[in-house]
Formats: sequence, C-alpha cells, structure tokens
Amino acid sequence: MTVANRYDAIIIGAGHNGLVTAAYLARAGKRVVVLEQRHLVGGAAVTEEIYPGFKFSVFSYVVSLLRPEIIRDLNLPSHGLEILPLESTVTPMLDGDYLAGWADHDKTRQEYVRHSLRDADAYDEYGKLMHHMAMAVKPILAMVPPDPTSLAPSDLKGMLQLGNHFRKLDKKHFHALYKLMTMSAGDFLDEWFETDVIKATRSASGIIGTFMGPRTPGSAYVLLHHYMGEIDGAFRAWGFAKGGTGAISESIASAARAAGAEVRVNAPVGRVLSRGGKAYGVALENGDEVHAPVVVTSLDPRRSFLKLVEPDVLPAEFVEDIRRYKIRGSSGKVNLALSALPDFTCLPGVGPHHRGAISISPTMEYVETAYDDAKHGRFSRRPYMDIIFPSMIDPGMAPPGKHVMSVFVQYAPSSITGGWDATKREAFGDAVIDAIAQFAPNIRNIIFHRQVLTPADIEAITGLTDGNIFQGELALNQLFFLRPAPGWAKFRTPLAGLYQCGSATHPGGGIMGAGGRLAALEILKDVPR
Ligand SMILES: Cc1cc2nc3c(=O)[nH]c(=O)nc-3n(C[C@H](O)[C@H](O)[C@H](O)COP(=O)(O)OP(=O)(O)OC[C@H]3O[C@@H](n4cnc5c(N)ncnc54)[C@H](O)[C@@H]3O)c2cc1C
Repeated sequence: MTVANRYDAIIIGAGHNGLVTAAYLARAGKRVVVLEQRHLVGGAAVTEEIYPGFKFSVFSYVVSLLRPEIIRDLNLPSHGLEILPLESTVTPMLDGDYLAGWADHDKTRQEYVRHSLRDADAYDEYGKLMHHMAMAVKPILAMVPPDPTSLAPSDLKGMLQLGNHFRKLDKKHFHALYKLMTMSAGDFLDEWFETDVIKATRSASGIIGTFMGPRTPGSAYVLLHHYMGEIDGAFRAWGFAKGGTGAISESIASAARAAGAEVRVNAPVGRVLSRGGKAYGVALENGDEVHAPVVVTSLDPRRSFLKLVEPDVLPAEFVEDIRRYKIRGSSGKVNLALSALPDFTCLPGVGPHHRGAISISPTMEYVETAYDDAKHGRFSRRPYMDIIFPSMIDPGMAPPGKHVMSVFVQYAPSSITGGWDATKREAFGDAVIDAIAQFAPNIRNIIFHRQVLTPADIEAITGLTDGNIFQGELALNQLFFLRPAPGWAKFRTPLAGLYQCGSATHPGGGIMGAGGRLAALEILKDVPR
C-alpha cells in the first residue's frame, strides 16, 4: 500500500451528507478522502442529462431543509449555490376547480376565502401555530441527541437543556406539539380545516417519503419535519437549486476540495477493515485498500453495518437493532422531457402555476386510496404526485422552448407483490401519465422522453436500501436518540474509529446536511484538530 492511500479520515459515499462531513473535517486540517461508487457526486441529490439537452434533478428536486449554518460556514454561494424560489402550489380538483397557495400570504388567504371563509381564518392561526412548533423543534436539529437512559454528565446536561427548552412552551403549544408527535396528518388537519382539498394538499407533506397514509398516526410529525425549512431566512420556503439539486452537492464538494479534501468517484467500497475492535480503513471493490484511523459511512445502516462490516465485529444486540430499523420504499420518480408545457384544464394556458409546484392531491380519499394500493402490495393506480417544471424556474435545464417535468410519485412500494420488473415499471409510468392526463389532457402528446424510476431503480443507482428516500422511515420510534439504534445516535458506532453521518442519523432525511455536520463536530471531539 502506498503512502498516498493513507489519510486522517475516509468518508464512504459522496452524498451531500458525506460531502458536508468531508468539508468540515478538511477545514479542521484533517487529510480527508471521499470514496464514491458512482461517476458523480451527490447520491440522491444529482443533476444528470439523461436525454440530450435536458437536465434532470433525477431524484430529489426541491430544497428547503439545508441548514443555514452549513451554507454560511462553507460559504456555498461562492461555490455556485443559488436557490431560486418556487412561487406557488396549485392543486387541480376533480370538479375542474383548483386550490392555489401563493408566496404572497394575502393572495393565499383570498384563495382560501374562495373555498371557505372559516378555513381562511384558520389558515392564519394554523400558520402561526406551525411556525411556533417548527421554531420549538428546530434547535433539536442542531443538537447531538442525549441518551435519556444514560447518567453520563453530557447526557444529563443534554436532557436538562431539552427539558428547559420545552418548559418554555406554554400549555397550548405543548399540547399542540404532543398532538403533532402522535396524530395522523389527516386527524390533525381535521381539527383546523373543513375544506377537503385544503386538508388533502396539506396532509401530503406528512406522507412524503414514508410508508404511511394521511390517516396513519405519526404522519403529523412528518408534516412538521417538512415545515422546518428555511431559505435565506424566509422560513418554510421551498426552492429550486439553479442547475438542479446536483448543483447543491457540487457546491459542497467544491467547498470540501477547496479545504483540501480529495473526492474520488468510481470508487465503490466493498468492506470496512478492522482489527482488534478498531476500524483502520476500507477495501475498495477492486481490492485496493485505503487506510485511516477514522472511517465515516454516509450509507444507510443496513448497507453500512450488515454489508460493509464483517458480521462478527459488531455486538449482536446492535446488529439486531439495525435489522429492526425500518426501511421501506414508498416513492418513485418520473422525469419527463417535453416539447411544450402541460395545459391544465383548471388554469388553461401558461401561467405562474408552472413556476411552482402542482400537487395531485384532490381529496383526502384520493390520497388515502393511493396508500391503500401500496398497503396491498400494488403501486397506486391513481397516485399522489408532487410536480415541478425546473425549466420554468431555471431555463438552463432544457433547450429553448422545451421543458423538463419532475414528478415525485407515491405510492410505489418497494415490496410490490412479485417484485419490480420492466413490465411493472412501464405500467407504473403509464399510471402516472394517465393520472396527470386527467388534469392536463395534452400531456400524452408532448413527451419526448420518459424516465421511470421505481424504488428498485432508486436502490440500484444510489444504493438507498429499498429506495427509501430518507435512509429509513421518519417515524418517532426511529428518530432522535433512537436513530438509527438505541444508544448509537451520537454518530459513533460500536466499532471504534467507525462513524456514521448519513440521513439515517439524527435529524433524518432530506437535503439538510445536519447529520453530516454534527458527525464532523463529534469526530473532532474524539480526534482533536
Ligand atoms: C426520489 C427522491 C426524491 C427526493 N426528493 C427530495 C426533495 O425534493 N427534497 C429533499 O430535501 N429531499 C429529497 N429526497 C431525500 C434526499 O435526497 C435524501 O434524504 C438525501 O439526499 C440523502 O443524502 P445522504 O448524503 O444522507 O445519502 P445519499 O444521498 O444516499 O448518499 C450516499 C452516497 O453513498 C454512495 N454509496 C453507496 N454505496 C457505496 C459504496 N459501497 N461505496 C462508495 N459509495 C457508496 C451513493 O452512491 C451515494 O452517493 C429525495 C430522495 C429521493 C430518492
């Protein structure tokens, strides 16, 4: 082995979290190498030209959760990060009407008045409550979860901090937080709104990426998780990265490289090397070894601990907890290259709605029925969809006059009866186009190219087990001090020298970078500058 293959830290996987960890460690003076299996960095946050001239955010497509402290610390705008706002969310309805939410609060209120005066009033109060709740939970995103079963001074201090934090909530807000932690999104929204399409559209953010329906207890927390975003200080705003989500990963990679990190692509790791209970490096699939006293995995725990690490190296109890950790894929993605824009019957012609999101969530029953299909091992015949037109926000994404359309789809269960194959993939793609055609009949005539990604495809390309977009369900039983396993939520693992930094760590998935940053800060406590 050459000296060139010896580092202070090895990061497995160049998803955005792995890159964030690399950047922070390199800034602290560590010699860092990132090893990525694919030919490009980004993991689930990549931009690829899958059809000549058309650029796709192949998997993740909007950003909001990326932590502002990371943007600041790594000075990501100077490395090319630019976030463009999404202007609206429009839900076409089955009766030809629509529900719109605009960036302008008063305009949205007027729209709600059109549907229900009562809901327009509730909208203001609900907005205030959710803002308050998100502000209450937000500090936890930047916190290393204390272990409530431990008497170590750092854990006791963390629990005290947490207690003091929540004591600041008055009764009303504490009760609301408890409800958000335990209820279904649908039941929670029933307490606020009477208009079905409003509840259906709002509850959708409680199901994204989960194997839950809007009436499944626990989905209200996911609603809150998606509420915590912030762009340039504009709370709860979702935006589109200029150049697609790959531009986010590229900007972090650029910051990491500028700080001295080496990023190697086409370098799949086959095994974590350990001796005497301590990790000392990795073996690539081609047999090459890279050595370092710190090895950080950004992969999901099934992949990290059940595939890359020798089975007898980890305690049986930990391995059992990782086996119990729930990773079920529920989402698919359809990317379309178009000759023109879809013409929505509810809002004919080209309009501002093409610069925002289109939510295919016309009724609660529609979304719940979509989930019913998945529960019974089928893809949704009429799926919930979150659609954007990246070329309307960033014209560089498609040739002049042409467009790209990004369709996030639920449900596409990883556990589909009989497994996924090419026939089922095409049938799933057809169901998506049929469902869009119900609201925009011209869709069938304007498609140049369609890329259909099932959970099996997502796993095959990115390595995300079962195609689960968050590296594991965002459910209370596997969040905070339980993510990914009881006693191992502080980015360390039972194998000394092996750390974890991906979305399967606290505070969970989405393009957030929080796990990547917290992992680096913990590593630097163990291995000082
Ligand atoms: C279809 C889809 C849509 C989504 N939409 C959104 C969205 O709009 N907004 C949002 O915020 N989030 C979204 N998400 C979630 C978000 O993209 C992910 O939670 C996040 O990108 C995960 O980042 P990560 O760095 O933790 O892990 P990953 O992105 O999974 O990175 C892990 C990396 O490790 C690499 N790797 C795997 N195995 C090996 C190996 N053996 N050796 C070397 N490298 C390896 C992979 O190739 C990958 O690059 C979406 C995800 C998907 C799949």
